[in-house]
Amino acid sequence: MEFRCTVCAYVHEGAAPPDACPVCGVGPELFEPMQAPAPAADPSPAPPAPASSAGVWRCTVCSYVHQGVAPPEACVVCGVGPELFEPVGPPAVLQGELASAGWKVVIVGAGVAGCQAAASVRETDPLASITVLSSEPGPPYRRIDLTRLLAGQVRDEAMVMYEEAFFTEQRVARVLGQARSIDLEGQSVGLSDGRRLPYDRLILANGAHAFVPPIPGVHRDGVTVLRTLDQARRVLQRCRTGGRIVVIGGGLLGLEAAVGLASCGSRVAVVEGEPWLLPRQLTQAAAQLLERKLRSQGVQVFCGARVTGILGDEAVYAVALAEGPELPAEQVILSTGIRANSELAARAGLEVGPRGISVDERLISSDPHVLAAGDVAECSGQSFGLWPIAQDQGRVAGIVAAGGQAAFVAPPTATMLKVLDLPVASIGEVHAAGPGVEIYEDQGPQRYVRVAARDGRIVGACLYGDITLAGPVRRAIESGRTVAELAGFIQDPMGA
Ligand SMILES: Cc1cc2nc3c(=O)[nH]c(=O)nc-3n(C[C@H](O)[C@H](O)[C@H](O)COP(=O)(O)OP(=O)(O)OC[C@H]3O[C@@H](n4cnc5c(N)ncnc54)[C@H](O)[C@@H]3O)c2cc1C
Repeated sequence: MEFRCTVCAYVHEGAAPPDACPVCGVGPELFEPMQAPAPAADPSPAPPAPASSAGVWRCTVCSYVHQGVAPPEACVVCGVGPELFEPVGPPAVLQGELASAGWKVVIVGAGVAGCQAAASVRETDPLASITVLSSEPGPPYRRIDLTRLLAGQVRDEAMVMYEEAFFTEQRVARVLGQARSIDLEGQSVGLSDGRRLPYDRLILANGAHAFVPPIPGVHRDGVTVLRTLDQARRVLQRCRTGGRIVVIGGGLLGLEAAVGLASCGSRVAVVEGEPWLLPRQLTQAAAQLLERKLRSQGVQVFCGARVTGILGDEAVYAVALAEGPELPAEQVILSTGIRANSELAARAGLEVGPRGISVDERLISSDPHVLAAGDVAECSGQSFGLWPIAQDQGRVAGIVAAGGQAAFVAPPTATMLKVLDLPVASIGEVHAAGPGVEIYEDQGPQRYVRVAARDGRIVGACLYGDITLAGPVRRAIESGRTVAELAGFIQDPMGA
């Protein structure tokens, strides 16, 4: 059974909703059971049928599946000989039901999009051979929990998203390696160590990397970004009580890192170039409340500030601002946005937009055998950089890659501030403006509610201090409900 968080759209599998949403932290009462998604009207392009005379052989070591009259001389994934392959029956078993039976599906990236894609391929096609390629060693982990790790709210061991048992049970081969090239014509992925992985369908789920702005001194020792478990561990290793840390970037991730590190005893300053914190998610009024709260927790905040350099010898010792004080720092965390890892696709000749690999609503790229999902994908001109979206796109890509039918429908995006013990939510078009837009706003000393409607229909909300409206607003946006239909919910906060 699947339950969806009505606030952030995270999908949980289990007999009951979780005690707390791992993405936004709300309780089980804000989860709703999910209905199976309706099949897409437009079917996938006809897949190439597997050779009809072929049998299917599975490597008993790594689960790699080979099609042919005999097993291969060596497993392309783990290298074992033909004696370690077992027949798993001719693909005809499922051919009548699913044209793709026994396809080789290669997935690049073992983040949430890649792992979810693997699970969906398996669910759709029990015979598919699935290989997940990951450049990060160790089991896949919850990237969204990196800031909770810095805050000491999650232990290192609890970061694991999928244990080895998942790969064994799902018969998914996990390969450690870096994809370096894609041969679209020959349908194979080349690894940096020279190995090649042939595919019938390729899912690119290789995520994004943190953007490093061209500030003088960014390469000094002690300056880091926060994208991987390894980077978070190194930040923690360098932390000491009373140590000074400067976080450059007052977005969600930067603020979570700042609050987390401050709660563990570091003295933290946040530098934001925009006039207020979380400029994309919050209005100035909500951001002012947030800034006050951060200061009360010992975090210094510098908004509208421009960093001119990171000073030091080998190691950093301060951050210089265009105006204002020099901020002492023994660590600097750059939190200035992400960029899709789309160069692999671009080099192969796939169409790439400014935000990622261009895909249609079935997540198929400009090559019909290649799909993309998660932070690396740009779907109808949009990319999100959000966990639940990567999870859902992984699901859709897995189904489509296995020959099934599914489509990605972009939900209204919702973001929440974790770590800080304070509910803040931003849903849909927070800054909606222009003809037909009406704003419902209410503010108290510790809370702020702003709901935006266009032509009577709810389009967005910014909530601070109390996010009980988040679920109803989100559902209202998705179903096109009017302000009048939401009156029961917004009456109270507006005090109307
Ligand atoms: C600190 C932090 C906090 C966050 N908090 C939130 C939050 O609260 N809410 C929210 O919605 N989102 C949050 N996010 C964003 C969320 O984590 C991402 O949207 C999500 O992880 C994207 O998943 P993905 O599978 O697309 O990519 P990724 O998680 O980036 O995984 C891609 C994987 O592919 C691997 N890879 C890359 N290139 C190659 C290659 N050439 N060969 C092989 N492997 C490769 C990478 O090493 C990586 O392991 C946060 C992100 C960070 C960093």
